[in-house]
Amino acid sequence: MNRRPIVGVLALQGDVREHARALATCDVDVREVRTPAHLQGVNGLVIPGGESTTMSKLLDFQGLLDPLRERIGAGMPVYGSCAGMILLAASILDGRADQVALGAIDMVVRRNAFGAQVDSFEADIAVSGCGPEPLRAVFIRAPWVESVGEQVEVLSRVVTPTGADRIVAVRQGAAMATSFHPELTSDARVHALFVEMVRQHA
Ligand code: GLN
Repeated sequence: MNRRPIVGVLALQGDVREHARALATCDVDVREVRTPAHLQGVNGLVIPGGESTTMSKLLDFQGLLDPLRERIGAGMPVYGSCAGMILLAASILDGRADQVALGAIDMVVRRNAFGAQVDSFEADIAVSGCGPEPLRAVFIRAPWVESVGEQVEVLSRVVTPTGADRIVAVRQGAAMATSFHPELTSDARVHALFVEMVRQHA
């Protein structure tokens, strides 16, 4: 595309500013998305970390649920970190019965899988598509991916503090998700990877 892509950040709740800051280093225009009209104008969307149940309610309240499902169904690139990963899943374990699963990625995620807030941790992990250098991954009351469908590419795994080996980054077509929060570090490689997906799609 000739012009800079417009990348939206769903701005209902969560660490919106941190994602906007990371995206701003990737040569795109960043838009906060709070309404269906905002959504119309973006070439891709980031769903931030925060609280997936709260974001579910606010998506509904803002009338964004159906427009968002439509855009994702039409192939709009979308990236979710942590709570955003939960929202993109096909199904959610340990979630609330009424919380939203957009089904953008054929995966089952387990919410709060690594334990409580106090069990938050950081790890250096390799992420496929982000080069050979390990990436500092911050896990805050994070989900993990319990299982994936055949179409899903596993981008990264982590060995947890208790020794379990878990999937923490995935991609299916134009949808990507990470359990961790690249927006909380100064390393924008995951955002750059997403922006590349947006450019290819546009
Ligand atoms: N535990 C949160 C949820 O269920 C996600 C935490 C996060 O985004 N840091 O939505």
